[in-house]
Amino acid sequence: METTTSKAYGSETEGTPLHEMEIKRRELLPTDVEMEVLYCGICHSDLHQIKNDFGGTIFPIVPGHEILGRVTRVGDQVTSFKVGELAGVGCIVDSCGHCESYEEDLEMFCEKGVTFSFNSPDRHLGGATFGGFSKSYVCDQRYMLHMPNFENLGAAAPLLCAGITVYSPLKHWNAGPGKKVGILGIGGLGHMAIKIAKAMGAEVTVFTTSPSKVEDAKRLGADFAVLSSNSEEMSKYTAQLHFIIDTVSAKHDVNSYLNLLKHDGTVVLVGLPPEPLEVGAFNIIMGRKSFAGSNIGGIAETQEMLNFCYEHNITADSEIIAMQEVNEAFERLEKGDVKYRFVIDMASL
Ligand code: NAP
Ligand code: ZN
Repeated sequence: METTTSKAYGSETEGTPLHEMEIKRRELLPTDVEMEVLYCGICHSDLHQIKNDFGGTIFPIVPGHEILGRVTRVGDQVTSFKVGELAGVGCIVDSCGHCESYEEDLEMFCEKGVTFSFNSPDRHLGGATFGGFSKSYVCDQRYMLHMPNFENLGAAAPLLCAGITVYSPLKHWNAGPGKKVGILGIGGLGHMAIKIAKAMGAEVTVFTTSPSKVEDAKRLGADFAVLSSNSEEMSKYTAQLHFIIDTVSAKHDVNSYLNLLKHDGTVVLVGLPPEPLEVGAFNIIMGRKSFAGSNIGGIAETQEMLNFCYEHNITADSEIIAMQEVNEAFERLEKGDVKYRFVIDMASL
């Protein structure tokens, strides 16, 4: 298969600094779209993967899956994108194209295995897919998103993973007027969840381990914010919430949050702590509660989320950095030292 080259940032081994490298992109197939990457967000999943937290990282790795750009070339049979348009790529870039999950617009659950935008077996070139820490990206038009013309384009890139990852469960569990929603952890995902849940009309209570984020949560739109180490405050919320979105990236005790649910309530895990979490039997049988999970969202729902966020003027609180600052940014993300998403300005590469 014919290829082109692109400048990128990646690493060859676990935990080593990212540096400039050259990667291959496939030459356009008839339904492919190529874009110049303008901005790429930094998600905690990028950090988990470069550290090989889950054990499955394929090296060399080029991270990045909140990829916003401008279309530079289109294949002969592309009908839905034109050169010069804004476009986005999130986590999903391919799937089998015919299983039940695909037919239901849930490509991320493809029965034959979804292809993620980075560090996923590449169906065309072999090896692993290379992500958005690069000058260009190529994928089929079916997996590319139309990016509304957000005033602050860089701040819109994180919608492509953080946004959809919380929008999808908020919709699935019916966030809206009359619903009391809890958000656990105020990071990239958590702060988007506050904004989106409020825009859907829910009452939002956030739980944070960081004293500095308690006041900030209200600025972001939360109705109530609780420091989770304050047991007296925590106990006020016993049996008060309809469901909770748990965005925590490290091992933590979910049982204390199951206790905050009303009967038939659900804790929805979207965070990816590498270690298993323990659930006490009584914490779910009492009140017929559920402990569930959710993984990003399908392409059609991602487009719906982008349009919803544009309509409600929602983007991420972002710190824009140069590509060369990425290693420092990963160190700061690990310490929770970012309010609330790093976004790389790809013009710097
Ligand atoms: P992030 O910006 O680092 O936010 C994670 C937040 O979790 C932190 O800001 C902190 O919030 C809280 N936290 C961290 N360590 C904690 C600990 N030991 N105990 C309690 N709270 C802790 O990360 P992110 O980009 O939002 O991603 C969050 C998680 O979701 C990651 O594991 C990521 O891989 C995963 N993820 C999953 C999906 C999916 O589809 N399911 C998609 C994207 C990301 P406070 O300071 O407020 O306590
Ligand atoms: Zn992500």
